[in-house]
Amino acid sequence: MRLGEPPKIVKDQINLRSPDVCNASISMKLLHEKFMLAALSAARQASAAGEVPIGAVIVCGDEIIASAFNTCEADHDALAHAELKVIREAARFKGNWRLNDCTLYVTLEPCPMCLGALFQARVGKLVFGCFAPQNVGTSALRHIGTSSLTDNNHTLSIVGGVLEKECSEILKLFFKLRRDAL
Ligand SMILES: [Zn+2]
Repeated sequence: MRLGEPPKIVKDQINLRSPDVCNASISMKLLHEKFMLAALSAARQASAAGEVPIGAVIVCGDEIIASAFNTCEADHDALAHAELKVIREAARFKGNWRLNDCTLYVTLEPCPMCLGALFQARVGKLVFGCFAPQNVGTSALRHIGTSSLTDNNHTLSIVGGVLEKECSEILKLFFKLRRDAL
């Protein structure tokens, strides 16, 4: 893979090669959208609390075991991102810090700190909503052309762009209202 190649992150794609593949892709797409809606619901709670609207859930099997939104303002804590909080909550729920069999859904592409935490917690899969081209987290993938990252013998599968428009609009609206209030 060379720098500058086109992005190859699995971006909410439906593969139309065969009916079986198509059906499997559609059901996976619907599943991702279902859980992303739950993450969006957490993001709305953040917005209502005056926090930047980013929400996350962790799914194990087909069950949501943790949900969180960022509380940087309320906690005066730059580290209180939705992903870190939801990872802690899921680990407490499971009684195990290793989350290999879990998928983390978050409305915005993770920052480098949270991407590192996903590896520390051995999260199996990351599904995110809208892209954050300004950060150096998973955005790096778009330059190296892959849909997974491996670090310290752990591979994290990544799907980006699920309900991208909805996840992006809630952020845009929040910042517009904040600007208008100034
Ligand atoms: Zn973060």
